[in-house]
Amino acid sequence: MTFYCSNCWKEIDEQIIICPNCGADQEKLDKESYVEKLIRSLNHPEPSTPVRVAGILAQLKAKDAVPPMLEKLKTEKDPFIIFAIVDALLKIDMNLTQEIQKILGSNPPSIIKNLKGFSE
Ligand SMILES: [Zn+2]
Repeated sequence: MTFYCSNCWKEIDEQIIICPNCGADQEKLDKESYVEKLIRSLNHPEPSTPVRVAGILAQLKAKDAVPPMLEKLKTEKDPFIIFAIVDALLKIDMNLTQEIQKILGSNPPSIIKNLKGFSE
């Protein structure tokens, strides 16, 4: 199993207590569940973090993450984050295509058109 820092979500060694990337103390981080921490990190200010987090949530097929990710799509402007979230949502539940299209409107970022279900 791969271990991630529960603040910045870079891969770290299982034994590491202080993350070499962001300095977060893994033992002090509160006792939220793994998925809850991931969901919180969707709003991390460093843009590569939500992208990474979306990928991990997709791997976990985390259904609990679907409503917060849909919510995030409504306000997100960064096309790479939008792409990562849409990709993750579709990996968790392929039936979300219509709902995602509704949120993104008639003019989704062109990068989204590379995803299955979004090509015209
Ligand atoms: Zn970290």
